[in-house]
Amino acid sequence: MNISALELLVREQEGMEFSGRKEIAELQLRKLNRLLKREKERGSFYGGLPEGLSSLSELSRLPFTTERDLREQGNRMVLLSQSEIDRVRTEETSGTTGRAKRVYYSAADNERTVSFFAAGLSELVGPGERAMICMPFSGPGGLGELIAEAICRLGARPIPAGIGKSYGELLEVLEKEQPETFVGMPVPLLSLLRLRPKTPLRRALVSADACPGTVKREIEKRLGSRLYPHYGSREAGLGGAVTCPAFFGMHLRENDIIAEIVDEKGRVLPEGEWGELVITTIQAEAMPLIRYRTGDRTRLLSGKCPCGSALVRLDVVTRLEEGGLPMHELDNLAFRIPELIDYRAELVNGALCLEGCVSRPGGRFPEELGGYPVRWKLREVSMEDAPCYLAKRSVSFV
Ligand SMILES: [Zn+2]
Repeated sequence: MNISALELLVREQEGMEFSGRKEIAELQLRKLNRLLKREKERGSFYGGLPEGLSSLSELSRLPFTTERDLREQGNRMVLLSQSEIDRVRTEETSGTTGRAKRVYYSAADNERTVSFFAAGLSELVGPGERAMICMPFSGPGGLGELIAEAICRLGARPIPAGIGKSYGELLEVLEKEQPETFVGMPVPLLSLLRLRPKTPLRRALVSADACPGTVKREIEKRLGSRLYPHYGSREAGLGGAVTCPAFFGMHLRENDIIAEIVDEKGRVLPEGEWGELVITTIQAEAMPLIRYRTGDRTRLLSGKCPCGSALVRLDVVTRLEEGGLPMHELDNLAFRIPELIDYRAELVNGALCLEGCVSRPGGRFPEELGGYPVRWKLREVSMEDAPCYLAKRSVSFV
């Protein structure tokens, strides 16, 4: 098996001959200490932290950065002047909980992300091919734009489909452009493949949402190839970790990000144990974060990957959610029904009301999912019907 493109990129970026665990740890410590020194000189939000650590294990003594810190004191975490900022990404608040969360990037930060995307995508996109991007496009430095740039660098053509389109419109794009690759969220991809089983798509990189086992298997069966899950977040600079051709977890770009897994009390867990992912963005120029609690649940896979890379791998990532029936679990159960294209769910008085779109009615639909009794409301979907309704997949608990 060829070594992963991400491993080769990390070696090239850092001028390393070989990246074993020892070399990676030394590199991370060096970058972390450089960052702590910058913070101290700047007197920023992190200015009170020690100026340097003697080993990476001392990182666990530093305080966490929470989402609330980011919302309320994010401007104190910015290390560049406004003129050096290339892009600000704002997440609107959904309610009355105060300020929006803003993350800032420099041109160098975005360049780093594009190189990472290009390495990850090079495993599945070849020169002369077309790749459909179902991610948000929001102007220069936007997520969709950075992915498109990465695809161009591979000599392939990006098809910017964006988000918020109906499945009917997406099917038209597929028909017209005939892309071999899909980049976007897993469930909409499965819905597309179930709506139109005959597809030009051969491969896919999925991101921005948890990809439950059922959804993954169904997509792989229909594409006839393995799926490439990716993990990213605004805080991680949009790109974070990506699957290699060994399909054994997602390699983290460890020359840019240090990952820790902690339990509810914030204690660092050993490799292999599930907990909350905490990241330190040691390479970020505009707005580095130290020990940011992501609210995402995963574990680190230890040992060398069959692809030959020693870069640590993340297992499946889901949101840390309390109680109820998390969306990814519901997806995992609901999409076992082969006729199901898409659904909306509501939990009313202890029963799940599922409004589903199906390829044909009359199949066997379970009376219970995840321990909840289910009331189905189904309607058959024709191609003319596909717009609008299907794009509204969501769950609400009342
Ligand atoms: Zn690998």
